Amino acid sequence: MLTRRSLLTLAGTLACSWKFVTADAAPAAAANAARTLLSPDEPAAKAIAYAELAAKVDPKTNPTWRRGQSCATCDLIEFGTGRARGCSILPGRLVLGTGWCKAWKLRGS
Ligand code: SF4
Repeated sequence: MLTRRSLLTLAGTLACSWKFVTADAAPAAAANAARTLLSPDEPAAKAIAYAELAAKVDPKTNPTWRRGQSCATCDLIEFGTGRARGCSILPGRLVLGTGWCKAWKLRGS
């Protein structure tokens, strides 16, 4: 049975949780806003064989690529969970979670 006390406790817990979520997301969103999306046509992208769609990487030209590898599964992807996220080897830039490059690194390795 819900009592007035349990409702107040629940409301306090939800308020604290919301503060935590928004405090965590705000810096990541601000950092992302200052970055620009990497184009596969740029020299920096070509140097690492970056592609926006990992599923379309040609294994003949990129023999290290394996099914399941993408920026979203790479250890070098940075903060956030959005479509475009930071990459630790590309300062100031964003990559797509669907992308891939030859610097892909297994998480936790
Ligand atoms: S290092 Fe990882 S996150 Fe960065 S572009 Fe390459 S595959 Fe994507």
